[in-house]
Amino acid sequence: MSSYLENTPDENGYFGKFGGSFIPPVLEKPFEDIKNAYEKIKKDPQFIEDLKYVRKHYQGRPTPISFAKNLSDYCGGAKIYLKREDLNHTGAHKLNHCMAEVILAKHMGYKKVIAETGAGQHGVALATAAAYFGLECEIHMGEVDIEKEHPNVIRMRILGANVIPATHGLKTLKEAVDSAFESYINQADTAIYCIGSVVGPHPFPMMVRDFQSIIGIESREQFFEHEDKLPNNVVACVGGGSNAMGIFSGFIDDKEVNLYGVEPMGKGEKIGEHSATLTYGEEGIMHGFNSIMLKDEKGDPAAVHSIGSGIDYPSVGPEHAHLKDIGRTKVGLCNDEEAVDAFYKLSQLEGIIPALESAHAVGFAMKLASKLEKDETILISLSGRGDKDIDFVVENYPIPNAKF
Ligand SMILES: *Cc1c(COP(=O)(O)O)cnc(C)c1O
Repeated sequence: MSSYLENTPDENGYFGKFGGSFIPPVLEKPFEDIKNAYEKIKKDPQFIEDLKYVRKHYQGRPTPISFAKNLSDYCGGAKIYLKREDLNHTGAHKLNHCMAEVILAKHMGYKKVIAETGAGQHGVALATAAAYFGLECEIHMGEVDIEKEHPNVIRMRILGANVIPATHGLKTLKEAVDSAFESYINQADTAIYCIGSVVGPHPFPMMVRDFQSIIGIESREQFFEHEDKLPNNVVACVGGGSNAMGIFSGFIDDKEVNLYGVEPMGKGEKIGEHSATLTYGEEGIMHGFNSIMLKDEKGDPAAVHSIGSGIDYPSVGPEHAHLKDIGRTKVGLCNDEEAVDAFYKLSQLEGIIPALESAHAVGFAMKLASKLEKDETILISLSGRGDKDIDFVVENYPIPNAKF
């Protein structure tokens, strides 16, 4: 393991000044238990073997790296490569941590898993892992997202999960987290919370990063097969930041590799129009951890917007706040329109329909590629596939060059 990953976070879950654990006293013991169980299990050869087995024989790992030649030619600059997390079972990187979280839950003797979901991808991945390992599953989801991401709601129900709508506030991801936490407090002795990103109280930002680091481990090896050198740039979209931390992990000690976390600029720069947390936010505590967050004039979590339902979150994983703070990562931006353009370009030039979240990484990478030389390279974490988004996109943004 890299020296950075071994030494970060500290034993209290701090990445520099960000992270930690700010939870009600009733949850202190359950989170302490999770931390201790994780510390033990991560060195357990049986756990490592079990995880390797499901990843290889069930989930579809390793996922390939594809050279996007047509897209690279179109942009006219750097060569663009895609780490194909869209090819995971259930269509996104989320199963990387869900399988591991559910093995951990089972190991600790819990019968049930509880989580929030934004676009429904974490919910589907967790419901899948719960079905596979025979645990009960309760998923909290904002009513607005339930409407927008209907196919994923049906998927979760078919998989046997109980989907509970979050009906307060803006009824999206933030409210889903509130609702899931409330429910968890009442059943922390029989159920375990499975956070869907590198957010939440310690040990989740570290644990989810470690489980997602498989993306970076594979990428580093596979990229050499293509180019016989490291990529110059690695680009990933950042909601909470798990697919980004996953791929960044593989290159974090390689200072010459630029790491870009891409934030959604939505439809404008005003509060409520975007969810570019690292760009416009300030330090603050939300959902049990200290990080950078977007606040309204009262200091509460601000309203946010992005067409990517999985990345409209008013905070960000504490490690991203830290890595930006120390200058190791840079922030890229991509707005709704650029993301939709990238969605269609990748579909029509490469035959890959990306998730709207992933399309933000592609949109930024396209801008970056056009400014770079032809011998330079960009590796994108293509976090998920776009089947879940097709109805929403075609209803709101006409198909370019449509032939019918
Ligand atoms: C959930 C999701 C994201 C955002 O989550 P991160 O933790 O920031 O990776 C991005 N892309 C897809 C496809 C997702 O499902």
